[in-house]
Amino acid sequence: MNTRTKPCPICKKARSEDFAPFCSQRCKDRDLAQWFGDGYSVPGRPVSPDEITPDDWEQQG
Ligand SMILES: [Zn+2]
Repeated sequence: MNTRTKPCPICKKARSEDFAPFCSQRCKDRDLAQWFGDGYSVPGRPVSPDEITPDDWEQQG
């Protein structure tokens, strides 16, 4: 075991060399998603509640 390697910053599991510094492609994508979610969010354009309204609500009328 290589104790020098830091764990995956997402889930704290042992990371894989293929996806370093993450443990898997999923965590790698997740980190990227956080980048787009936080760092890339443009001030003045928050997520509108209308965008997350499920279509099922309208179909129940
Ligand atoms: Zn992970």
